[in-house]
Amino acid sequence: MSKLGDTCIETGFAGFTHIFVMLRNLEHVRTVYGDDFVHALVKEISFRGHSRGAIISMVGEGAFLMHMHVGFPTSYNLALQELERWQLVLSAPPFEIEGTPIFPVLSVGFVTLDLFGAPSLAEINQITPPAPMPLPEVHCSTDWRLSYESDMEFAACFYRGLGRQDFALAFQPIVSLGEAGETLYEEGLLRSVENLAHRTTAGEDTISTLEKLGLIRRLDRSVVLSLLGMLRQEPQVKLGCNISSSSAVDDAWWISILELLALRPDLASRLTVEITEYLPMLHPETAVDFVRRLQTLGCRIAIDDFGSGFTTLDFVRRVQPDIIKIHAGYLHRARESEQSVEVLSNLVGISSRFAPNVVIEGVESEEDLVLARGTSANWAQGNLFKAPQLWPSWSRHPLFIRSSSL
Ligand code: C2E
Ligand code: CA
Repeated sequence: MSKLGDTCIETGFAGFTHIFVMLRNLEHVRTVYGDDFVHALVKEISFRGHSRGAIISMVGEGAFLMHMHVGFPTSYNLALQELERWQLVLSAPPFEIEGTPIFPVLSVGFVTLDLFGAPSLAEINQITPPAPMPLPEVHCSTDWRLSYESDMEFAACFYRGLGRQDFALAFQPIVSLGEAGETLYEEGLLRSVENLAHRTTAGEDTISTLEKLGLIRRLDRSVVLSLLGMLRQEPQVKLGCNISSSSAVDDAWWISILELLALRPDLASRLTVEITEYLPMLHPETAVDFVRRLQTLGCRIAIDDFGSGFTTLDFVRRVQPDIIKIHAGYLHRARESEQSVEVLSNLVGISSRFAPNVVIEGVESEEDLVLARGTSANWAQGNLFKAPQLWPSWSRHPLFIRSSSL
C-alpha cells in the first residue's frame, strides 16, 4: 500500500475532502524574479485552481488549501485520480508572468481539517513522502540567478517540445554474453526528433537541467506512460526506461501508472525501470519504498551506471535489484591497464552478489567483448551489438513521447 494509501486507511476516507498544495520552489522564484513576481505567481496558481472548479486559499508561505466546489469523489480510487489531476493541472503548462515562463514545483496531498477548519500541521508535514533529492540550495549570486533563469526558459522550451511530440525513445538491446544471443530487454533512451538528422541525443544536459529545477517528474511520467503504451501494443517485447532518482517517490505523479501496473501484471512483468543516482540521496528510504512498490507489482528494477554516481552498496542491498548495470567507464578504462581489468572484474563480482543479472555497458568493439566475457557478468549493452534505434524491427512505428495526460 502506498504512502497515500496508508494515510487514507489511518484517517478514514471520509476525512479527505481537501487537497493541500505546497510550492517547493518559492524561495528560488523569489530570489531570481523578486517579490512581485511571487505574488503574481501565487495569484495565477489560485486562478488556475478556481477556473477548474476549486477554491484555493493560501494558508502559509507557498502553502495552499484547495476546497472543491462540487464536493470530493466518494470512492477512494476516484479521489486518488482527482489528486493526480490537480498535480498535473497546477504544475503545467508554465505560468507566463510578464512574458517570463515559470514552472512551479508543487507537491499535493490529501489533508483533513480540524474542527475549526484548519489543516492539521502534523499531517501537512507528511503530505507526500519526502523527495529522495531535495531541490538545490538557493544562492544569491548573479551567476546563480542568471543560470536559474536560463534553465527555466530551457525547461519551458523543452516541455513545449514534448507537447508537440518532438521527442521519442530510441531502443538499445541488452544482450546475453553467452552463445544464445538472448535479449534481456530493450532500453528506451530519450531522443530529440529535431536533432535526429544530426544523430545527437536529447542528452544528459537536458536531464540534469530538469533535475536541477525539480522539473523532471513530468518527463519521467510521460516516458513510463509512453513505454506502457508500447508494451501494450507489442506483447512480445520487454522494455526498460530511465527515471531520475528524484522521481523515485510514491506520490501523486505516479497514481495512474501504479494503478495500471496493478491492473495489468502482464505489462508490469515486461517493464524494467532503471534508476541512476547522480547526487547523494537525502532520503534513500523514500526511494527504497518506491522501488519495493514497483517490484511488488511485478516490475524489474535496474541500478544504472553502477560505480559512477553515488549509489551506495547499502542502497543496493536494501533495494535488491534484479539488474545492476556497470558504468561504461569501467570497461573503457580496462582497455588501458591490467589493473583496471581487475577493478572491472571485482566490481562485477561484488555486483553479482547483489543482483542475478549484471550488465556491462558501453561495449563498442570485439576487444571490449573479450574484456566483458572475462568477467562474471551475464549481459552486455553497446554499439557493437546495436546502436539505439528509433524504429527497431520489432515495433510498428517510432515511439514518440506523449506529454503526460490521464
Ligand atoms: P544511460 O542510462 O547510462 O544510457 C546509456 C548511454 O550510453 C546513452 O546515452 C547511450 O546512447 C550511450 N551508449 C549506448 N551504447 C554506447 C556505446 O557503445 N558507447 C558509448 N560511449 N555510449 C553508448 P544517452 O542517450 O545520451 O543518455 C545519457 C543519459 O541520459 C542516460 O545514461 C540516462 O541516464 C539519461 N537518460 C536518457 N534517456 C532518459 C529518459 O528518458 N529519462 C531520464 N530520466 N533519463 C534519461
Ligand atoms: Ca540507463
